[in-house]
Amino acid sequence: MNAKFIRKLALPEEVKEMYPASRETEKAVEDAKREIERVIEGFSDKLILIIGPCSADKEDSVVDYVSRLCPIREKVKDKIIIAPRIYTNKPRTTGEGYKGMLHQPDPKEKSDLFKGILATRHLHMRAIAETGFACADEMLYPENYAYLDDLLAYVAVGARSVEDQQHRLTASAISSPVGMKNPTSGDYAVMLNAILAASHPHTFIYRGWEIESKGNPYTHAILRGYTNKHGEPQPNYHFEDLIRLSEMYEEKNLLNPAVIIDTNHSNSAKNPFAQPRIIKEVLNSMKLSPEVRNLVKGFMVESYIEDGCQKVGGNVYGQSITDPCLGWDKTEKLIYEIAEIIS
Ligand code: PEP
Ligand code: MN
Repeated sequence: MNAKFIRKLALPEEVKEMYPASRETEKAVEDAKREIERVIEGFSDKLILIIGPCSADKEDSVVDYVSRLCPIREKVKDKIIIAPRIYTNKPRTTGEGYKGMLHQPDPKEKSDLFKGILATRHLHMRAIAETGFACADEMLYPENYAYLDDLLAYVAVGARSVEDQQHRLTASAISSPVGMKNPTSGDYAVMLNAILAASHPHTFIYRGWEIESKGNPYTHAILRGYTNKHGEPQPNYHFEDLIRLSEMYEEKNLLNPAVIIDTNHSNSAKNPFAQPRIIKEVLNSMKLSPEVRNLVKGFMVESYIEDGCQKVGGNVYGQSITDPCLGWDKTEKLIYEIAEIIS
């Protein structure tokens, strides 16, 4: 191989021994997973809100953000299940740029993946211990999921990964709900094929083992908008988009038809301030059609302490260094508004 082998990394079991999950943490994760699963199965009509920064760049500001959600959780818990976004690895369209805490535990310093593995586990554990929230992360690298599998309430497969076989097969072995995003081209069939693949058992190679997965019945869709042939962002959260997804789900005969609407990315054309309006439109579509109401299970929102974004290396506390986010005050208002609309 044309690469320098830097060092052999500790196995997931070894890292878990260094940072073991406590009994309380395990319970918080199991409870959070079960609550989300009940929504996906249609046994609960609460809405799932996966909310937080585009990337979890710094432990302190991310834990600060998640802590701010605690009093809101108490007030909306009969209507909304909050799963904070702690996204520790970031896909990059050209491979350039900040690839998340996994690669750079300090965004201003150079890549250190061993430190990154420890930092991501430490962050998820601290968030659960200090706030009781089990969180969501993206599975960008299937083999790394094993370092966090006992800590995550929700896993997303990104728009650039959803067509990949290893992601699909690994999702079939995951014991929490997995959201499959539509690809950047917008093709629903790719997303639904990923859901179909992940919902069945498979035998495959994972971290040096031949393993047999059970299949994940809680795999579902995430609509994040798409890019057209002119490279322009296009939304896919409108009424017609949701009806079309419902019909395509029916054709595939999948066990648990479900979709989360990602309100940023190509749906907002990366204007984070459009997110409240998008949510309100979808909530209205849900009121208009029982089919849409049954399909839509919640939202994924990019939100942080400060509005907008800054360059990597910027010094604004709690401001995104990847996609622009909705700031805290607007976020708090939005969550209460959602609770109000659906009551
Ligand atoms: C994200 O959720 O920040 C992300 C990178 O999403 P997508 O895969 O939809 O681009
Ligand atoms: Mn993002």
